Amino acid sequence: MGQIARIKCPKCGYESTLKLGAGMRFFDPDTALSLFDKSIQEKISPLIKGKTSIGFDASFELGICEVCKKAVSVPVIRINRPGSSPHTIKPTCECGKELPTYDTNVENGRQNIPCPICKTLLKIETTSLWD
Ligand SMILES: [Zn+2]
Ligand SMILES: [Zn+2]
Repeated sequence: MGQIARIKCPKCGYESTLKLGAGMRFFDPDTALSLFDKSIQEKISPLIKGKTSIGFDASFELGICEVCKKAVSVPVIRINRPGSSPHTIKPTCECGKELPTYDTNVENGRQNIPCPICKTLLKIETTSLWD
């Protein structure tokens, strides 16, 4: 289940509403692929659709870009690998910078996420759910 999250900075007042988390159909390789643009699709398609695929986890995470000074919803895919940590693939920000992303799922323990403008920790509220 995904969440519609409202984030707000208690200090500078930065605010944004983002669609985060994973939908039920994200378990489907084609649905997961559709979250990404062509260049990334080509990279992950053989990994998640091949016979040797051993599973993956796709979701939208909260990305913070300090260059663009904004919070964005970023598709992230983690592809399982035997005997080592998952291979994580995600797009860069539209400015070209690599985006730090955060899992906002309460079940996984909410992380401290800095405001993209003033770096004060953001307050995150789930306003509704989607699937
Ligand atoms: Zn702020
Ligand atoms: Zn950026």
